[in-house]
Amino acid sequence: MTLRAILVSAMLILAACGGNLAQHETADLVLTGGTVWTMDPARPSAEAVVIRGEQIAYVGSAAGIESWIGDGTEVVELGGGMVLPGFQDSHTHVLEGGVALADCDLSSAGDAAEVLAVVARCAAENSEPGWLRGGGFLLTHFPGGNPRAAVLDEVVADRPVFLTSSDAHSAWVNSLALEMAEITAQTPDPPAGRIEREPTTGVPTGTLRETAIELVSRLLPPRTQEERIEGLRRGLELARSFGITAFQDANLGPEDVAAYALLADRGELTARASLSLGVDPVQGPSQVAELVALRERYQGGLLRVSTAKLFVDGVIEAQTAALLEPYVGLGDFAGYLELDTEALDKLVAELDRQEFQVHIHAIGDRAIRVSLDALKKASTLNGRRDGRHHLAHIQLWSPQDIGRMQALGVVANFQPLWAYADPFITELTEPFLGPERSQWLYPIRSLVDSGARVAFGSDWDVSTMNPLPAIEVGVTRQDPEDSSSRAWLPDERVDLATMLAGYTTGGAWVNFLESTTGTIEVGKAADLVVLDRNLFDIAPQEISDARVVMTLLDGKVIFRSPAAVD
Ligand SMILES: [Zn+2]
Repeated sequence: MTLRAILVSAMLILAACGGNLAQHETADLVLTGGTVWTMDPARPSAEAVVIRGEQIAYVGSAAGIESWIGDGTEVVELGGGMVLPGFQDSHTHVLEGGVALADCDLSSAGDAAEVLAVVARCAAENSEPGWLRGGGFLLTHFPGGNPRAAVLDEVVADRPVFLTSSDAHSAWVNSLALEMAEITAQTPDPPAGRIEREPTTGVPTGTLRETAIELVSRLLPPRTQEERIEGLRRGLELARSFGITAFQDANLGPEDVAAYALLADRGELTARASLSLGVDPVQGPSQVAELVALRERYQGGLLRVSTAKLFVDGVIEAQTAALLEPYVGLGDFAGYLELDTEALDKLVAELDRQEFQVHIHAIGDRAIRVSLDALKKASTLNGRRDGRHHLAHIQLWSPQDIGRMQALGVVANFQPLWAYADPFITELTEPFLGPERSQWLYPIRSLVDSGARVAFGSDWDVSTMNPLPAIEVGVTRQDPEDSSSRAWLPDERVDLATMLAGYTTGGAWVNFLESTTGTIEVGKAADLVVLDRNLFDIAPQEISDARVVMTLLDGKVIFRSPAAVD
């Protein structure tokens, strides 16, 4: 090594040490004048962050930024705001939700009358014949979670209407749609699905659950690739505005993956996207080869294509979740599994053997148990590997299964926004479970205390993609829009730092991104979100009032609020 080389390496080493040494080059961006919450246990908070190129170059005191500022440096004064690692949403439907934004959007309708008014408006605005397609209505707006075709007929009778509920596990159709699908009193319920009917005559009433939805949805014109791409653009725009820099898109087919790859190629992908490939519960292990092909074709850059998504059951509000004991008031009916346990075990074992991360929708206590059983068998069969399998939604628990998550290394992927006493809980969940089981709904604190890894997600477009109301509910277990509402199952509240961890380091773990993201540390990717206030300085009930000022991915500003600090 020449003397010059030795000197250069010494300078590089000194520069790498961070510090206030003058040898480093100047920064592209400096964030100062607020609180930097790093999620790095070695230095939980700081006053400033310096970004050079794609990376974080300095984290520390405001005094330490001087030497980084040069002619080309943008200095952003935070005005008492807060910098966090970019949020990571561990279960969302960015593409599908974005596509649905172009349909008739019923998500903001406050009651049944408003839902119908929006449907009427959509029908008037889009008067082309053919299907009227929409979604996002709340089941709780209708008696028993059971909207009727006759009610829809009063608004639109001359063309078929197909509307999905906000959770996408039920569909509401008009009489013409029932007729076109040839659904009559004689039509049997499909496996793992239910046609809601008049109790005496068996005549379909207009609500379809789970696989019964496909009896009508298969008649809809398929989405075009252009619609997918446009939808993905809309979904990504929302994600940027909420400070989300990484996510796991929860259920995708080959065309969806191609849409992601196209935007990635064009430089339009503004988040690290982990794509969960949809698995057909009926098809069995033979389909895994196709998933392997997709993984090999598209992996790389901002895309990670190594997850397989599997539905094991439905949802409690439609009485389709699989329970260990029957639903209250429904005889011996305990819901159903999407596939029997033997098929589940085989499928999970094959996915694990092929080194997929297995992402399971499990809501009822039976679904959680059989999923854990299947993952345990897979690790016995294939050997324990760093699979980071995760169970999403995980609503109703048998207490004896809580410790198994940590023991098996399975991540608890909660949607914390759902953990307060809204009508889904008080009208469509607790009455069907009874008081004893209802103590074990969304036990986030119990999972955290058990040592399990926890990650959070929105399940958009089932619910808002904004992490802040979800973070608030995790801390308060209250309605985020009503600070005087009661705290529901308050023993399961967790502190703010735990909630932030689930949306940063927890997500980074699930997305296999912890070596480059999830914390604010020198050398990591500058994936950051800037909020307009320090969440630790405000009442927990005000967390959802905070606004995203700026979002950065790889050091690039991908979102700046119109009202941003300068
Ligand atoms: Zn989902």
